[in-house]
Amino acid sequence: MSTVDLTGRVALVTGGAGGIGSAVVRRLAKLGARVAVLDLDAAGAHRVASAVGGTAIIGDVADPATMPAAVAQVEEELGRLDVVHLNAGIGGGQAGVDDALDVARYRKLVGVNVDHVVYGLCAAVPALRRQGGGKIVITASLAGITAMPSDPLYTLTKHAVVGYARAAGQALAGENITVSALCPGFVDTLLLGAAKEEFAAASFPLLTPSDVAEAVQSVLSDGEPGEAWIIQPGGKATAYDFRG
Ligand code: NAD
Repeated sequence: MSTVDLTGRVALVTGGAGGIGSAVVRRLAKLGARVAVLDLDAAGAHRVASAVGGTAIIGDVADPATMPAAVAQVEEELGRLDVVHLNAGIGGGQAGVDDALDVARYRKLVGVNVDHVVYGLCAAVPALRRQGGGKIVITASLAGITAMPSDPLYTLTKHAVVGYARAAGQALAGENITVSALCPGFVDTLLLGAAKEEFAAASFPLLTPSDVAEAVQSVLSDGEPGEAWIIQPGGKATAYDFRG
């Protein structure tokens, strides 16, 4: 197992009240970090944060003001920022392949899954620069490198953030800032919902949130700028080869 000592470090996790986010929050705290938990779900954020002696921040990540305010709050209250996990996300919820497109629902999807990642990375980088570097992890999906026909719009958003992680990672590589995309297949959380049936029909193994937390630990230890990481049951994570 990769070892990482986050003693004295500070992390911010979006969607930290959810299935994957809460497992990551617990893992980062176990590794020694003080953790800020950002979520729209106030009760959930407070519950997860208080379990690790962390800080809860309530906000909508699709709002352009939320991530800059969260980064400022973390620096002010916890003194620094070293690790940012942009993890909040939602499913597409519609086919998105004909004139039945629900534009409001589509804009919300892009706001949470894509805009949030851009706002979060742009807000975090100046804070990481102040510490001489840091780590940004983005929860994408296997749908970020393969097609998920049951949810083309979700596929679109996750391809977008994988591309952004790769390019931003390379752009920031000289500054000791690592940007990595996590590409888990199906994970047993509330978000999976109806897709659980698709999972049952597919050959993908069902991951647990702690598998993803394990992969985050590996990425923090071994991640190179701009990589996308595939996760296997048990949390073994390997960088995806885009040339393959
Ligand atoms: P989840 O529903 O358990 O957690 C998502 C969290 O994000 C929730 O706590 C929710 O309140 C929060 N959130 C949603 N919209 C928000 C907003 N506008 N502002 C702030 N917080 C908001 O789902 P999860 O499975 O833990 O999902 C986490 C990430 O993992 C998502 O980006 C998702 O796309 C990705 N992912 C999930 C799976 C899976 O099978 N569950 C697979 C691959 C990738």
